[in-house]
Amino acid sequence: MKSYTEMSKDELLKERESLLTIYEDFCKKNLKLDMSRGKPSSAQLNVSNEIFDIINSKSNFIAEDGIDTRNYGDLYGIDEAKRYFAELLDVDEDMVMVGGSSSLNLEYNLLTNALLYGLNGCKPWKDLDEVKFICPSPGYDRHFAMTEHMGIKMISVPYIDCKLDIDKIEHLVSTDPSIKGMWCVPKYENPLGITYSDDCVKRLAKLKPLSKDFVLIWDNAYFVHDIYEDKKDTLYNIFDCIKGTENENMVYSFTSTSKITIAGGGISSLITSKKNLDNLQKDFTISIISYDKVNMLRHIKFLKNKQTTIEHMKKHAKFLRPKFEKVLEIFDKNLSSCNIAQWTKPLGGYFITFWTLDNIAKKVYERCKSAGVTLTKVGAAFPYGIDPNDNCIRIAPSYPEIDELTNAAELFCTCVKIESIDKILNK
Ligand code: PLP
Repeated sequence: MKSYTEMSKDELLKERESLLTIYEDFCKKNLKLDMSRGKPSSAQLNVSNEIFDIINSKSNFIAEDGIDTRNYGDLYGIDEAKRYFAELLDVDEDMVMVGGSSSLNLEYNLLTNALLYGLNGCKPWKDLDEVKFICPSPGYDRHFAMTEHMGIKMISVPYIDCKLDIDKIEHLVSTDPSIKGMWCVPKYENPLGITYSDDCVKRLAKLKPLSKDFVLIWDNAYFVHDIYEDKKDTLYNIFDCIKGTENENMVYSFTSTSKITIAGGGISSLITSKKNLDNLQKDFTISIISYDKVNMLRHIKFLKNKQTTIEHMKKHAKFLRPKFEKVLEIFDKNLSSCNIAQWTKPLGGYFITFWTLDNIAKKVYERCKSAGVTLTKVGAAFPYGIDPNDNCIRIAPSYPEIDELTNAAELFCTCVKIESIDKILNK
């Protein structure tokens, strides 16, 4: 089959007509589908239901060091929970703090501390003329919303062929003292689904920031979230690279079990140098007496250790894999010969990133919406909500059931084709 860019005007018009018929048939179905939410389906969440039986009124609520988890105390979490994250992320136990149900909330706490009180004795960011963050993009919308909300200026650094532009990042941090941090989602990045290469992690570890309190926010949200058993990305351990170097206090790593057990109801962790943890403690103590240690205890009883967690993640993958594959199969079938789009094929995480021809992503979004399919808002994955090329769409296949997903992906492809033809014809 000829690609759209090779077709004559008449051929394109004919193709458009038949696509419009398909589109109108979709519209008649009164669909109400959603490919915007990066969250597990209810059926997928069932894989962790046993966690609700682990602790009940007859339970022994005592943690291994003898403390009663129902009571106040142990601000940085119970020992077995710290050991759990230390094993999973291959770090020393004294670098781990275990928090409440949200890693994003811990990130927010860190940044508010930096703004209001300063990190490690440095000036509070609120007292500086300008504070900037490097934002590799596309990235996680809530990260960008957070920095925008806090008045931190975002410098967008676009990925190049799905790779971090590390040359540019090295240059920026070593020349601009107002750059105080960088957002990183190093494994199965949201939304690209890519993982930073070993070389990239090593170069990030060796950054030479002009500002002493530069922070690398290492949001490792998808660290065990592989969808295949035989092919998976691996992430180099950045803490091995910074140990004993001048950057030892630069990295703050976050994760949670939100997509391992209960979304928004799991346990989170902050991993950083012991010095950073000690310094943060006095501020954290003001904001909370202690996190939910009963939840920590039942998580550890349920997830146990690294090996059992990896086994547990295979149950999640059983739900996610066919959904990712279905969407990719439909994209491939409909679009691979058209020469009008590109998309990622991730091995884990929750998202696929899709690129249309320039300047039509918003039109595709609107056309899908009119036919009953909601996509993530175009621009959401970019600082200030602006996709400079208007060509990037985040696809979230995890939530809808397969038949809904099939309809949504087929309709999406139809919309991409119609808008692409209009663009080519107008050109
Ligand atoms: N970080 C990233 C990169 C995410 O994609 C998400 C959820 O989608 C979160 C953090 C939220 O994590 P939590 O539920 O632990 O706050």
